[in-house]
This record gives sequence, structure tokens and C-alpha cells, in this order.
Amino acid sequence: MNHTALEDPLSLLASDFDWKREAQRNITTLKQLKEYIDITPEEEEDLQEVIYLHPMNIPRYYMELIDKTDPNDPIRKLAVPSVEELVVAGHMGETTGDPYGDDQHDKGNGILHKYAYSALVIATEYCAMYCRHCFRKRMVGLENEQTVENFQEAAKYIAKHPEITNVIISGGDPMMLPTKLLGRMLECLKDIEHVNYVRIGSRAPVTNPARFFDDSLIALLEDFNRHKALFVPTHFNHVREITPLSSEAVARIRGAGITVNNQAVLLKGVNDSAEAIENLMNGLLRIGVNPYYLYQCMPVARVRDHFQLPLKLAVDLVDEARSRLDGYAKRFKFIIAHDIGKIEIIGRMGNKLVLKQLHVRQENPEEASRLFLRELNETGGWLDDLPEVND
Ligand code: SF4
Repeated sequence: MNHTALEDPLSLLASDFDWKREAQRNITTLKQLKEYIDITPEEEEDLQEVIYLHPMNIPRYYMELIDKTDPNDPIRKLAVPSVEELVVAGHMGETTGDPYGDDQHDKGNGILHKYAYSALVIATEYCAMYCRHCFRKRMVGLENEQTVENFQEAAKYIAKHPEITNVIISGGDPMMLPTKLLGRMLECLKDIEHVNYVRIGSRAPVTNPARFFDDSLIALLEDFNRHKALFVPTHFNHVREITPLSSEAVARIRGAGITVNNQAVLLKGVNDSAEAIENLMNGLLRIGVNPYYLYQCMPVARVRDHFQLPLKLAVDLVDEARSRLDGYAKRFKFIIAHDIGKIEIIGRMGNKLVLKQLHVRQENPEEASRLFLRELNETGGWLDDLPEVND
């Protein structure tokens, strides 16, 4: 990708730009990475181990967003492997490969059924970029058994469960599948009466926005949206990811009548200031994306130690940002996506963290909407680190 395309997305329309060919040009080896970033021989050995465990995949477009002169550049931290990934669990505490309990709710053939009303289908393990903070790091870019093999069978599972009101096609990044294959998947869901709406989770608007310059993809999304409401949850983490190209990608999705919601993650060294959160939320609204969730970074192995913030600091940053944000910009929920379900962080009263259970596992319906408190401390970054408060 050249600089003209970065600055003027519409120049892509006039060219024979091919998003698949661009994806094939992604930076996947240290030799390619060294064309952009200086790496010492010692680092190289460690990084080789890191990318063996968690592959590297950086679009050249995204690489252009990185300030190569700044080793602490926030965009670099999201994309470029770091030797810190060799720390499985460090000063922030224990970690796991599966913090959201995916494995316990795996119904086979790519279906995760955690909440009664939502079914999630893992459509692919491939993403336009392999983000270094990913909570599905255990599987993205790697062979695994949780990816759907037969979407028709997955749709049969959904059809047999009338309690399922919505389906999330996720991964990996489903938008990186061939348009025809994605179309066949959507076709299977069109006539399931009890499914009110479908979400296709994708970070491609951020990492390979040219994907949405493919008119056949936009036509497919538009057509499906006429049959059943379609939403695209996306994942911008920093205001510098909002470029003319990513804005144009969002405009094209919205032009098909589809609502785009953002799910960011609060990450040390990336967006860990009130100003960064504020700029992100305001930037999203400027391009018509709804701030929806801001996740506390999960205790993921090889991620937690260098990305997670203590909750006491995190809640203060979020509240400070919120104090300056307008109504739409502060609509996002600050979330702990815990094994026991999704929990909203409401705020803090003195040293007590105020929480609300938003979604519960099917086995614990009595916990729905409960309010509860936890005692904050200076270091705890996850629910389990904070003592319970009994009233
Ligand atoms: S695009 Fe999403 S699923 Fe893929 S690596 Fe990034 S965070 Fe993980």
C-alpha cells in the first residue's frame, strides 16, 4: 500500500487494489519486520520464540501507522511482538489461556453457547492482524479444534434452540473469509425465525480497511440486513487507528444500513490515560461508530503482565474521561468479561468497587442484574484479586 492510498482512500477505488493480495503481503517474519524496525540479535532470538507461540501478522497499511522512532508507540504495542510475551504470568498475578471460559461452553463444530440468548460461532482462526493483546491468543493464527467445520450443522444447532435470539459470527475475523463463503454462512441463518439479529465481529475496518472496498462484500451485507438486522461490532483501541481509510471502511458498512459498535480494550501503554480514552470515544462518534464496551484487559497468559492495569487506576481513568465526554460518547460500558459472565464496572465509592452482573451463565440465572461490591487495592487487576465485601 502506498502513502497516497493512506491519505486518500478514494484513490483505491480507481485502482485495481486487491485486499487479498495485500493480506498476502502482511509482515509475518522477523526478516520482513526488520525492514521497518531495528531489532538487536538478542531480541531476535527471543522474538523468534514469541512468534512461534503466537504468530505475527501485520498488514503493511497498519505498519504505516506506527511511529518507528518511538519504541513505546501505542500502535506498535498492539501489532509488533514483544519479548514481554515470554512472561506467562508476572507481577499482575495468575493467567490462563482461556479467561472467558470458552472451553466450558464449547458445543462442538465452532459453537460457543455461554448465555442462553446468544450463540457465538467461531468462523475462522485467521485475522487481518494478530493483535498482541488478543484474549483468544491461544487459537488465533493457530490450528485448533474450535473453528466451525460445517456451518450448516452449526445453524441446525441454533435452529433447535429457540431461546437463542442472536448469533455472533466471530473468530478470528469472519470478514477475512472469502465473500462467497461468508454469504453461505449468512444464508444458513436467514430463515431461523427466533434469531432477531446477527453480529459479525471484525477488526478488519481497523487493520485491513480495504476489505470493505470490495463492493460484493458490501452488497452481501446490505442484502442480508434486509432480511435480518445485522450489526458489526468492531475494535478500535486508539484514536490514531481512525484514519481516512478506516473511516471510509466504516462509512461503507454504514452505507449498507448497518450499525457499527466499538468494543475497545483498556491497555497499558496504549490507551491508559483519560485523554486517550476521551480522544478514542470522540473520534469514534465523529465517524459514526457507537462506543459500546471498554473491556478491562483479561488475565490472558503472555498478555496480562504487560497490558493489564490495576482496577483502581482503571476505574479512575474511565471516570475522569467520562466527566468530560458528552452523552453519546460516555454511553460505553466498562466491562469485566469474566468466566462467571459479563460484569459492568459502575464506578467506585471510596475503596469499594461497584459492580453489576450484566450477563450470567445459564446455570446461574438468579445472579442476573445483581449489584455487588469488591474491596479495591492498589494492585488488583481482576475481580478475583479483590476481596468480597459482605454487608
Ligand atoms: S482481530 Fe480480534 S480475534 Fe483477531 S487477533 Fe485481533 S483481537 Fe484477536
